[in-house]
Amino acid sequence: MSDCIFCKIVSGEIPSTNVYKDEQVTAFRDINPAAPTHILIVPNRHIDSVNFMTTKDEPLIGRLFSIAKQLAAQEGIAESGYRLIVNTNADAGQAVFHIHLHLLGGRQLTTLG
Ligand code: 5GP
Ligand code: ZN
Repeated sequence: MSDCIFCKIVSGEIPSTNVYKDEQVTAFRDINPAAPTHILIVPNRHIDSVNFMTTKDEPLIGRLFSIAKQLAAQEGIAESGYRLIVNTNADAGQAVFHIHLHLLGGRQLTTLG
């Protein structure tokens, strides 16, 4: 998707602080962090949101969680705790329509809702 900011981050067209990259997934630090650790984990292939995922995407979406687990350990927050968030559409405040997993931690997180 040519006008997607996260596709441009995946391709390197827009600079980012990457913490992980492979042939399927890229992870980088959020530009406006909401916690000491705030990493975005995205598939390299464009998917707008959870509403657009299909059953064939299940291994890819599962992989986002495996990488989140790995990065949480790397960031030293696996034991203290972390939160994984996937926002979908307006009521959740989705701002970037390229599916992404937020990894948040490093402080006590407030309750959801
Ligand atoms: P959403 O609300 O869509 O779940 O989250 C989008 C996230 O992307 C926000 O936390 C926002 O700070 C982050 N973000 C938006 N643009 C950029 C960017 O150009 N670079 C990086 N690293 N993060 C971005
Ligand atoms: Zn995209």
